[in-house]
Amino acid sequence: MTTNNFTTTGLVCAHHHLYSSLARGMPAPKVAPHHFLSVLENIWWKLDAALDHDMLYWSAALGAAEALLSGTTAIIDHHESPHCIEGSLDVIHAACTDIGVRVIPCYGVTDRWNNSGQLQKVDISSPMTRSAQIGLAETERFLASGKAGMVGVHAAFTCTDETLEAASRLANKFNTGVHVHVAEGPDDIGAEKRLQTYANDQWLIVHGVHLQEPISGTIVHNPRSNMNNSVGYARPARWKNRVALGSDGIDSNMMAEFQLAFVAGRADDISFSPDLAWQWLFNGSELVPETLNDVVTWNYPHMNSSWHVAYTTSLHVTDVSINSENVLSNGNLKRVDLSEIRRKANEQSQRLHHALAMSA
Ligand SMILES: [Zn+2]
Repeated sequence: MTTNNFTTTGLVCAHHHLYSSLARGMPAPKVAPHHFLSVLENIWWKLDAALDHDMLYWSAALGAAEALLSGTTAIIDHHESPHCIEGSLDVIHAACTDIGVRVIPCYGVTDRWNNSGQLQKVDISSPMTRSAQIGLAETERFLASGKAGMVGVHAAFTCTDETLEAASRLANKFNTGVHVHVAEGPDDIGAEKRLQTYANDQWLIVHGVHLQEPISGTIVHNPRSNMNNSVGYARPARWKNRVALGSDGIDSNMMAEFQLAFVAGRADDISFSPDLAWQWLFNGSELVPETLNDVVTWNYPHMNSSWHVAYTTSLHVTDVSINSENVLSNGNLKRVDLSEIRRKANEQSQRLHHALAMSA
């Protein structure tokens, strides 16, 4: 994948949540999370419910800008904003396109919001909720426009059987895959049993930490997120599936994710080679082949060696070319002003954090 000692092809973040870029510095939850489900309930499901289109645009723009600074030229995004679903995929697409980054978005449908807008424990045999219907409609509208995208599902444990089947059907209609969290934490153990009949090689199986049986699709490994949420080591090498790397919304720095994937693998098994984590990193180009035409230039002369990069800090991207357009030159974004993006994103993060403080 490497074209010379200082360059690589464009990196791919195979699982992102661009809406989380404004989360840094957010007020601490009033209830300190003590298990993974409470992290979702007290942090992420409050944050996504507070998002509006302005927050979403600048969150995605900031995440996209930081992607370029890290040599990531394509983002496969998984989005949720239950109070502004309609048009949300266009907002993310516009923000990334304005910066110059490739994006493959999806809307993560879920039945965890009942028809009164309250969080609920999902009865999988219930009819699909209104919220899930709107999510699928937004997905279909976006895919019908001809833009690249996927069908998003939050996770099996927050979806009815009717919703899982409808999502699978929609993906088949547009010849794309379903992008879904699978067995990330203990609350989703056994998810693969409900998904196996639908899954195919186009699916993205995100996390798989507690996966017990094989399932078709690319397994997306997110080692930083898994450590951050204390859900355990996914040990993705135990499966025959293709493995790619994602950030799960922490940022877009995939070379950092590679380095941690190596360390996490080595912590589990002394014989784990950085060559394997390197393969996972560049498997992203099989998901977004256009990135093979992108060129990322680094400040380090051994970018063709996983063994060098695994142990080298202070790696920096100097230049990025996407589709022969220089979108980053000498560390400076060419299409947009980074300081302006940070200023606008900061304005929106203050709005978001205020809304979260009011809702807590
Ligand atoms: Zn995720």
